[in-house]
Amino acid sequence: MTVSTLDWGTTYRVTVLDLGLACCGVEVMAALEGHRPEQLAALGVDPVHAAGEAHVLVVSGTVTDVMLPVVIATYQEMPEPRYVISVGACSNTGGPYWDSYSVTKGIDQALPVHVAVPGCPPRPEALLDGLAALHRMVS
Ligand code: SF4
Repeated sequence: MTVSTLDWGTTYRVTVLDLGLACCGVEVMAALEGHRPEQLAALGVDPVHAAGEAHVLVVSGTVTDVMLPVVIATYQEMPEPRYVISVGACSNTGGPYWDSYSVTKGIDQALPVHVAVPGCPPRPEALLDGLAALHRMVS
């Protein structure tokens, strides 16, 4: 089922796609793949695996300049309205690899980031907090 911002504000359901690119992706998987089903249900989060079904893109891990076009293409496949949560220092700023020639220094250079979750890595609960913050923002 595809839902929209309006649905999130009224029925509390939203589709979320995890684009895990490095270590932070494991923490996001722990948050989204069934370890905390009651918290996901309370937030109305419905994890999906196709960009065409997702209204929230979670980018977690180190984004290299080579991978950045894939991240952008994934975002562009998503239906409107669409939102981005950046998870972890690497996705937010380049993190420990900020001075690497091959690492993108924050996906906000390429995409509109609505919520940035700090940490290296953030705990799974931090993503849930980020989803709750986005929920408050759009509803
Ligand atoms: S922020 Fe830390 S834990 Fe997350 S992908 Fe980068 S190095 Fe790994």
